Amino acid sequence: MLSARRAAMVRPGSGVLRPLGSLVPDLALPDFSVVNEPILAYRKGSQERTQLEKALKEAASTVQDVPIVIGGQEIRTDDVRHQVMPHDHQKKLAKFYYADSKTVQKAISVAVESQKKWDRTSLADRLKIWEKAADLMAGPYRQTLNAATMLGQAKTVIQAEIDSAAELIDFIRLNAYYLKENAKYQPISEDLKITKNSMRYRGIDGFIAAVSPFNFTAIGGNLSYTPALMGNAVLWKPSDTALLSNYVIFKIMLEAGVPPGVVNFVPADGPVFGDTITSSPHLAGINFTGSVPTFNRLWTQVGQNINKYTNFPRLIGECGGKNYHFVHPSADVQSVVNGTIRSSFEFCGQKCSACSRMYVPESLWADIKKGLLQARDKLKVGDVADFSSFTSAVIDDKAFARIKSYIDHAKSSSNLEILGGGQYDDSKGYFIQPTIVLTKDPKDKIMTEEIFGPVLTIYVYKDQDVNQALELVGTSTQFALTGAVFAQDEKFLRYALEELKMTAGNFYINDKSTGSVVGQQPFGGGRMSGTNDKAGSPYYLQRWTSPQAIKETFVPLTEIDYPYMKE
Ligand code: NAD
Repeated sequence: MLSARRAAMVRPGSGVLRPLGSLVPDLALPDFSVVNEPILAYRKGSQERTQLEKALKEAASTVQDVPIVIGGQEIRTDDVRHQVMPHDHQKKLAKFYYADSKTVQKAISVAVESQKKWDRTSLADRLKIWEKAADLMAGPYRQTLNAATMLGQAKTVIQAEIDSAAELIDFIRLNAYYLKENAKYQPISEDLKITKNSMRYRGIDGFIAAVSPFNFTAIGGNLSYTPALMGNAVLWKPSDTALLSNYVIFKIMLEAGVPPGVVNFVPADGPVFGDTITSSPHLAGINFTGSVPTFNRLWTQVGQNINKYTNFPRLIGECGGKNYHFVHPSADVQSVVNGTIRSSFEFCGQKCSACSRMYVPESLWADIKKGLLQARDKLKVGDVADFSSFTSAVIDDKAFARIKSYIDHAKSSSNLEILGGGQYDDSKGYFIQPTIVLTKDPKDKIMTEEIFGPVLTIYVYKDQDVNQALELVGTSTQFALTGAVFAQDEKFLRYALEELKMTAGNFYINDKSTGSVVGQQPFGGGRMSGTNDKAGSPYYLQRWTSPQAIKETFVPLTEIDYPYMKE
């Protein structure tokens, strides 16, 4: 009733302006629901294990040629590079080519042109492509993806399966589902005989630069293809050390039906790529995951060029962490020990969410120390194709040198004591033993800086100082990515939940700081850990659209004056 009255006040008169009705059709999207991709078990004799072993053999025995691909055209420059196996660095896995600035510019022109047409592809058609891609990844290409991730990024079977199979497939499926659900929102139309209000999703005119890290194959797929799903065209700069797995994704998406030019595969030297994209007027957004210094540099360059751009570029960056496990005297010791070993040492601590600092009460220290050291001694560090390995090598020589420098610091500092591990050897692969350090100083650099390797440092506090120890969590580092509290004392947990609110974008209670699942624990951190756009949630998609609100009016406007003016 009220809405009809309001409409009449604003729009007196009668008649029909355009009898044909609305030009904006109601969205006809398929109705479907999704579940997370199951993680396969790879038991001896299983089909998936046989298939994976075959894929590993194939990938290990060839050096794959990976071109730059722009608008469907394969390009090979003179600047030739190789991706090697981190656990056996004399073995080459892929040969690839760096794009120079001119080639990056060419990719920009192609993307800008492609975006215009791609943005007109209906949402329903895009959803079909994404569904097909997820099926290809879950089925025929699952072990190709896993083998490339295992050999190229030194992941064990389970670490590859949760990344390049489950998480990647989840990103593709769930993002399609979120798009369908988000698109259901339509603005209020008070009287459809008079006006209709609609909102439609558009990409952002220009191009998106997706710059991905080495450590998760799935992140590369999400950074480049979620903007594409939303109607954007993309330049994807993969990490040199995740090149092959990322190229497999690119090929699958083409096969599924993403038209050439919508996503362009552009390996390049980081700064060359960054300098070129940030100086293009067409830059519509950067979708970055990696370290804080790289994101700072890109953000600064965008700031310096701000008067050049057609749009205000969207800047999405998920960066580093200094993730913590805080243990209360009421904690369950077994959960602490097992959760910490997995969080700190799986994939050599190279998950952005890996635990690298721990706070332990004096009363539990003896038990926790014993448990951690016993578990650590059993961890097998070796070849990824050996299914009994718990973890393998770190990614490259730079990472090896950086992590080694922290271990050497621990060896030489009087505040620090290495309790277990501390050995490293890069003669065959970049191997670093899982290392446990005890610190007397809770603010030593080993407790505050991101190491991104298998180094866990522990600070033991006096039980009566638990609240002061809790304060250290938020005041020691610039990061706020993930963190966990282990306690069974409910009053303390409630207190910690408030006190630690700003210290982590992903917060765990009685669980390890790693292992977020797409759609279950949307991911991202605050402070210098990133812009916290929550990959793996419906919110993330909204960052990649520039929606258009449309009001259609069906009756003529017959007067300028309002009725009260004539009374
Ligand atoms: P990195 O910053 O070295 O590289 C990331 C990407 O940026 C690579 O593709 C690299 O080539 C590129 N790059 C480097 N310099 C560039 C420049 N000037 N312009 C444009 N691109 C440039 O990071 P990395 O070693 O690949 O990844 C590890 C880091 O990523 C860690 O800090 C980790 O915590 C973080 N990470 C964060 C998340 C998260 O969700 N928060 C997830 C994974 C990794």
